[in-house]
Amino acid sequence: MRPLFIGGNRVDTPDTRSNINPSNLNDVIDHYCVADAKLTERAIDAAVEAFSAWSVSDIQLRHDVLRRTADEIFARRHELGNLLSREEGKTLKEGIAEVTRAANIFWFFAGEALRATGEIVPSVRSGATVEITREPVGVIGIISPWNFPIAIPAWKIAPALCYGNTVVFKPAELVPGCAWEVADILHRAGLPAGVLNFVYGPGSVVGQAILDSPKVNAVSFTGSVDTGKRVAEACARHMRRCQLEMGGKNPLVVLDDADLENAVECAIDGSYFSTGQRCTASSRLIVTEGIYSRFVEACVDRLNGQRIGDARDPNTTIGPVVDQSQLDQDIDYIELGRREGANLRWGGLRLSAVSEGFYLQPALFIDSGPHMRINREEIFGPVASVIRARNYEEALSLANDTPFGLTAGICTSSFKHVQHFKRHAQAGMVMVNMPTAGVDFHVPFGGSKGSSLGQREQGTYAREFFTQVKTSYQRP
Ligand code: NAD
Repeated sequence: MRPLFIGGNRVDTPDTRSNINPSNLNDVIDHYCVADAKLTERAIDAAVEAFSAWSVSDIQLRHDVLRRTADEIFARRHELGNLLSREEGKTLKEGIAEVTRAANIFWFFAGEALRATGEIVPSVRSGATVEITREPVGVIGIISPWNFPIAIPAWKIAPALCYGNTVVFKPAELVPGCAWEVADILHRAGLPAGVLNFVYGPGSVVGQAILDSPKVNAVSFTGSVDTGKRVAEACARHMRRCQLEMGGKNPLVVLDDADLENAVECAIDGSYFSTGQRCTASSRLIVTEGIYSRFVEACVDRLNGQRIGDARDPNTTIGPVVDQSQLDQDIDYIELGRREGANLRWGGLRLSAVSEGFYLQPALFIDSGPHMRINREEIFGPVASVIRARNYEEALSLANDTPFGLTAGICTSSFKHVQHFKRHAQAGMVMVNMPTAGVDFHVPFGGSKGSSLGQREQGTYAREFFTQVKTSYQRP
């Protein structure tokens, strides 16, 4: 049984929740203690108390804790990657890559702890100087989703701690395993008591208690648009900052002059790897007429070669869906797509033969219309649809015709169209001749329009959210 971490103590609770493997429902990974609103308040109080010392702690201490955490995560990447695939269902290769990314993020912010800078500027008032420095914000509430069980906690926790904040961290209900390991590693790496508190439990109880507390100074959230709106409303009520990363309906534009093989690779990777459960997944494949049929047939060829199965089987290329309710949602959308008149060209069947898990054949719709609900709403599963466009101009307009704006991709060999697309795609991230999903650990991550609100995550840009600016005047 895995405890909570509150004020540096391991806290057991009578209430626990089992972590179940979506590849094999008979496999119970472990049992995790569940917090309630009272324990969450205790965790917030512990973070408030720890802030006074941590906010002015030596940068050497912060660097050492973050570096030791990175070192251990990297050294254990195969074991933790295995745990990640077992609890979330992405393939072992993807699981190990995500753990490695988390280690890189902790290394990056271990370095950032030593690179804090400020400015000294002359004043317009005689004899005075002005100093501009950055200070931590306070207690940060961190609320994460299930689809990146270690990378998203890492890219929120590492900068929060690096810049001197304390944290109350609530991972998603479905994936407490890797999140717990990160909390445990940080404590063993020398993090002082109360600087990071781990409170696992339902969003409606633990998450809500974080949102309701006036002692929380900022909230960093990743998850669905509906929950994001709740977070934003609660933060507005308390007049505190929030950072929201939410859904996507990301387009991949394929033009007639694209390298067909690469375009298909981008489409299959972007749409279906990680079982399509990525906010950056390409779910709308917008293809111009001259390449349309060849593109569809080549995608079908590639889909025929996919192995859907146990996430930890080395032959598997696409693992299971994360749980029953996500599976139901995917199947409902596949049914809806058919009713709306899109042509289900490949897949979409529930697979029961592999083992007792949430297996679904990836689905490819063709001849779909831009106004169909399958092209407007985030499905968050292995479902993509092809939309026909007459030319680049129409493809761009279809790509931008969405309330979301996380990523947008284009496959083309035209320099003119690449330059135009980079400038005019309404998205926070643009990928040229690359899949829409999969971004580096050291550069800003985030979207535009309805996908994101607040400052960017990752890289040096993370500083904007996790610090506040102070301007000091001085006369000798
Ligand atoms: P979700 O909104 O259901 O849950 C996200 C987190 O919010 C969980 O920890 C949950 O327990 C918590 N929560 C739920 N109700 C709450 C409440 N009332 N108060 C406070 N917290 C509450 O999302 P999910 O199903 O875990 O994740 C899938 C979604 O996440 C998709 O929409 C996906 O696009 C999005 N996502 C976005 C990004 C990004 O960076 N843009 C990355 C990954 C996932």
